Amino acid sequence: SSHNNITLPTTTTTTPHPPPDNSFRVMQWNILAQALGTNTDNFVKCPPEALDWNTRKFRIVEEMLTYLPQFICCQEVDHYNFLERVMERLGYCGVFMPKPDSPCLYLPNNNGPDGCAIFWDDTRFKLLTTQTRVVEVWHVQSNQVVILLVLEERSTGQQLVLLTTHLKARQGALLASLRNEQGKDLLAFVEQHCKGRPVIVCGDFNAEPSEPVYTTMTEASTGLHSAYSFLNDGREPTYSTWKVRGEVDCCQNLDYIFYTPDKLTVEGGFDVPSEEDLGPNRAPSLSYPSDHFALICDFTFKPQLDVEE
Ligand code: NDP
Ligand code: CA
Repeated sequence: SSHNNITLPTTTTTTPHPPPDNSFRVMQWNILAQALGTNTDNFVKCPPEALDWNTRKFRIVEEMLTYLPQFICCQEVDHYNFLERVMERLGYCGVFMPKPDSPCLYLPNNNGPDGCAIFWDDTRFKLLTTQTRVVEVWHVQSNQVVILLVLEERSTGQQLVLLTTHLKARQGALLASLRNEQGKDLLAFVEQHCKGRPVIVCGDFNAEPSEPVYTTMTEASTGLHSAYSFLNDGREPTYSTWKVRGEVDCCQNLDYIFYTPDKLTVEGGFDVPSEEDLGPNRAPSLSYPSDHFALICDFTFKPQLDVEE
């Protein structure tokens, strides 16, 4: 699989360049839970061998290692132990938070609950604190979770708050309003822990940009912007997931990387695969191991003015 580099100036490269020295790279990716992909997703155009875990697991790792991000935020992780074991050998540490009542648990041949995970490059960033939360809606716990990490760049002491989540799926006005409430809960959690530090929120929000939760996440008061919108002249890409479910071709933008532009600069990013790259059978496929595509972008810390006491 190859993303096109959308960093300027453009040179046509097939091998993604590493992030510039002083920048760090973030990947947001719903990797597709093995139990869901093989049981409930109804990917009628996907060749069965593309869903065989014995090979799909290596294509997932390949995608991560192609870009070597400093931070990898994943959803639908139902094989955390495998990923942790591989990533550990490469200098990454990880945190996993399962969903309280994962749908995977009710499926044949499941490997336990799915959930969110974050891996970080431990050679460059030191973990300061881990917070996890079951997202609440109207003061009741939902089946969605958040991981929040406070990290410190070893060479500079610069701190960063990184979150990931996977909001409630499915269409409809009620569910869109539920996602909006989940977004508000997430923002309150950020507010509680950010303490003025730069913030990056990555996730599968299960919401198109037209949904209320997108507006909630990007309202001026949050201080958050969407990195891919910034890279695409103020518009979100057309899709972050493209699959054929039964008779339906589902092409939607549901995944985002939000960041605080007053403290971070987006230096560049990688475009999702083109329609031509995907072909008529879309994803997953032997080229793209998940029905969601990885969002990848590079950030630098903005110099902050020291406040005189
Ligand atoms: P969500 O509604 O958030 O969805 C769970 C997963 O289903 C997501 O990973 C989502 O992927 C995927 N999904 C979305 N749309 C479809 C679709 N059209 N076809 C197949 N998969 C899809 O789940 P919750 O966490 O709220 O858990 C509730 C679900 O768990 C129930 O819908 C039920 O199926 C299952 N469950 C079953 C139980 C049982 O069998 N007894 C008990 C408890 C739960 P994506 O984010 O990529 O869209
Ligand atoms: Ca899914």
